[in-house]
Amino acid sequence: MMPRNSVPVRAFMKNCIAIFISILLAGLAPSAFAGFSTVVIDAGHGGHDRGGIPGQRASEKAATLDVAQRLQMNLRAAGLRTVMTRSDDVFVSLPNRVAIANAQRNAIFVSIHFNSAKRSGAGGFETYYYTRQSAALAARLYSRLVRAWPGENRGVKRRGFYVIRKTRIPAALCECGFLTNPHEAALISRPETRQRIADLLAQAIIQQSDR
Ligand SMILES: [Zn+2]
Repeated sequence: MMPRNSVPVRAFMKNCIAIFISILLAGLAPSAFAGFSTVVIDAGHGGHDRGGIPGQRASEKAATLDVAQRLQMNLRAAGLRTVMTRSDDVFVSLPNRVAIANAQRNAIFVSIHFNSAKRSGAGGFETYYYTRQSAALAARLYSRLVRAWPGENRGVKRRGFYVIRKTRIPAALCECGFLTNPHEAALISRPETRQRIADLLAQAIIQQSDR
């Protein structure tokens, strides 16, 4: 199902363009994040920080932790070493998350988030990077993530979020759909969908790894 305010053809074209740009970005730096054996998985928010916007019904911090744990299982099964910035419903400061990432060698950093907006029609996936060395990682993750469900997507963007700006290893932040969009929130509330998101992220990571 499409978000109610979108025109399917236009959404399709936007997706095609976004995926094309992702492939182009990935192609520009094919080895920028190759050769890693450790994945730092960052479940966004936690503890008193619920994530999302005030009054939001679906909890972002619970969804991020669930996907992070599923991703960890997948990566371990593939022989990769994983480090979690949190494994529980606890608050971890942004500097601590970055310190955990920067203590790792031959590693990449993947931050898991879910989006929110005042406009309930806002939907789709987006991934973020900051440094040049991280662009290909964000692009690979994005090109898989958009397969989770059809709809309008938002692309790969450069933005100075703390956890991707301060990390010295390749780092990407994934917004895995909108919890404020009733259709996407219903999908994300299903364990099968969260497993699908974790599977897609894992595929993108394993493809590039050193394992
Ligand atoms: Zn978040």
